[in-house]
Amino acid sequence: MQKGNISVQTDNIFPIIKKFLYADQDIFLRELISNAVDATNKLKILANRGELKTEMGDTTIEIKLDKEAKTLTISDKGIGMTEEEVLKYLNQIAFSSAAEWLEKYKDEANIIGHFGLGFYSAFMVAEKVEVRTKSWKDGADAVVWSCTGSPEYSLDTIEKDHRGTDIILYISEDATEFLEKNRIEELLYKYCKFLPVPIKFGTRTITEKVGEGEDAKDETREVDNIINNPNPAWTKNPSDLTDEDYRNFYRELYPMSPDPMFWIHLNIDYPFNLTGILYFPKIGGAFEMQKNKIHLYSSQVYVTDDVKEIVPEWLTLLHGVIDSPDIPLNVSRSYLQSDSNVRKITGYITKKVAEKLQELFKNDRKGYEEKWDDLNVFVKYGLISDEKFYEKATKFLLLKNTENEFFTLDEYKEKVAPLQTDKNNKLVYLYTNNPDEHHIYIKTARNAGYDVLLFDNLIDNHFIQQIEYKLGDIVFKRIDSETLDHLIEKDEKRESVLSEKEEEKVKDIFLQVASKDGQSVQLKALSPEEPPVQIIKPEFMRRMKEMQALNGMNFNDAFPDSYNIVVNTNHPVIAQKLLNKKTDETRQKLADYLLKLGLLNQNMLKGQELADFIHNSIDLVTK
Ligand code: ADP
Repeated sequence: MQKGNISVQTDNIFPIIKKFLYADQDIFLRELISNAVDATNKLKILANRGELKTEMGDTTIEIKLDKEAKTLTISDKGIGMTEEEVLKYLNQIAFSSAAEWLEKYKDEANIIGHFGLGFYSAFMVAEKVEVRTKSWKDGADAVVWSCTGSPEYSLDTIEKDHRGTDIILYISEDATEFLEKNRIEELLYKYCKFLPVPIKFGTRTITEKVGEGEDAKDETREVDNIINNPNPAWTKNPSDLTDEDYRNFYRELYPMSPDPMFWIHLNIDYPFNLTGILYFPKIGGAFEMQKNKIHLYSSQVYVTDDVKEIVPEWLTLLHGVIDSPDIPLNVSRSYLQSDSNVRKITGYITKKVAEKLQELFKNDRKGYEEKWDDLNVFVKYGLISDEKFYEKATKFLLLKNTENEFFTLDEYKEKVAPLQTDKNNKLVYLYTNNPDEHHIYIKTARNAGYDVLLFDNLIDNHFIQQIEYKLGDIVFKRIDSETLDHLIEKDEKRESVLSEKEEEKVKDIFLQVASKDGQSVQLKALSPEEPPVQIIKPEFMRRMKEMQALNGMNFNDAFPDSYNIVVNTNHPVIAQKLLNKKTDETRQKLADYLLKLGLLNQNMLKGQELADFIHNSIDLVTK
């Protein structure tokens, strides 16, 4: 039996490990199993090279719980370690000033694996760790190394049948949760689901039909409970995978989600290694719910599902897996963002995503249009956030109109330019966010030969601003932001049938009935076809308000819900009927009625006002 002190700079590194990494205690299991996987992979390499004299045999890694003995054991059948190697790898902490580093990066969750300290994370949960190991090398003695979390250790030779390593953790009093089957299972599913070597955790019962026809009966049997899928789809060659394989893998990742629309298989080895599958989920409109579902792996070891630093926010709408051994996983986050590999990854993914969308658009426009409702938020989000993506996306961005027709930017320009170019040579794109509420506006605009686009998602506010800003020659106007005649300003002006004096009189009447809220009254000589009174919400003010709401600001006073009352002086009910009324009272009554109709059309007549209006209307038809 040999005893000695582990060489660390500081007297005792274990309290430091315990203290600083407590928050992320879970990772001990990942670290130990990763080591077991490494040892198994190394054995496979030796076997491939013909250096292994014995049979490789089954290499399943086994996790065992013994509640009574209070131990958790991780056993592999990998290369194992000789006595020398145990002394070298387990006793010498590679990093000369590990303690100093720990101190410096104590806020970083993932530092441990980075410094060759992975093994020592065992001491976060164990009061004693025993390593029983036998090297693959001919004639090597098996040894047991044992340590209680102080720099003292003991080493002894033992009998061990099989090559490989057992790590036995004597779970400490404050970590008994790791003696619970459910807790271990949870960790295994989280970190080990796609490790390249089978991981066994106990057994499970399966029920099978045996025999045929009437004699058939159910038989149960115990089988190994293998936690992981060692050959996940992303590690395979795309040509070996069917669409169903991709969908099945998606279900494996997100059992509760509806099937994805399509996917891209990433696979590059220069200038960095990266594989993965990114899925386009059915986003619909509620995109917040869909975010942060990409899992990051490093050589099939789960690292995190917080990929903010590696993937720009708009791409986090995608689902799936990215696996790269080259992403520096264990360093500070600010460093990650400035890492040139990481930036290249972003560029690469963006390019792939754009290519996929372009391809779908080109090869199957109809199918692409059918997916647009689920795609548009993603494309718009990308185009707002990423200049490079914008350049590509203008080719497959679609505008959808109220008739369910789709246009590219170029196509739409060509379609509406003849009628919807204003006197300043700007194209005016009309839109609605709510076809139901804007029914009449849309109808009259379409009767006039105009087209109306549909923008009904939160992101459309930003999208509209972005397109206006980028293209310069387009302005978007919501369909209720102006009267039809003025939506697209032309040079020629319509004449009013009223004299100046008559107009004055009309204005007075309306000012009297519209005293509420101090909203402005404008007289306009519009087509007699347009309603006598319209409520319009000027585009600029409305957008400011929407932006504020979106940003969670609330300056109600700065931007009151402002609207204009527009009176059409050319409408017969104004030009003739109103002015022909005999008394002030009857004139006001009519004006009030017309105003209420306008408000009703904007869904702005509510409560008592609405009740009064209905009451008066019934009176009117009864008389
Ligand atoms: P790292 O894995 O980052 O090198 P660790 O502290 O986790 O650091 O492990 C130190 C070394 O101990 C490993 O590099 C490996 O050589 C050896 N080792 C750890 N676990 C095993 C194992 N299960 N089988 C064989 N060797 C192991």
